[in-house]
Amino acid sequence: MVRDAAIQGYLKNLVGEDGLEMIERASIDELTDEKIAEETGSNLNTVRRTLYILYENRLANYRRERDKDSGWLTYLWQVDLSDISRNMDEEAQKLIKRLETRFDFEAQNVCYTCENSCNRILFEKASDYDFICPVCQASLDFQDNSLLIEVLRGKLEELKRAFE
Ligand SMILES: [Zn+2]
Repeated sequence: MVRDAAIQGYLKNLVGEDGLEMIERASIDELTDEKIAEETGSNLNTVRRTLYILYENRLANYRRERDKDSGWLTYLWQVDLSDISRNMDEEAQKLIKRLETRFDFEAQNVCYTCENSCNRILFEKASDYDFICPVCQASLDFQDNSLLIEVLRGKLEELKRAFE
């Protein structure tokens, strides 16, 4: 059911390894959670948890049906991954925003830290502290973040190429 490696990664993140296995073995029919467990050989708790997470992410639906004989309500579930690329795009846009905010912060600020890495302290604050760490009293030294900036820039370019 799931071939694309990026989609597999996204789902695994969402529902875990056992949830992904369940999704990969599940048919596209409307079934009760017990039937899905039977059909996929997955544990019923895994099935329920996975369906719930998928539902929360608009990747599964359910329909209630009243059993004619017993009068009980049954929930018929259906895994529906048709919205998954939209979800992944939304996630990617959020991640891009977060990385951009971080990138801007790193590019615009000069940070200081002590040898024990108690805290990252902006230049103005570090100068208020006379360049002494307020936690451990070691001296505060300039922290070179140029490598971090390059990593962030690379990650952003990669994401933008893939999702914009
Ligand atoms: Zn310190």
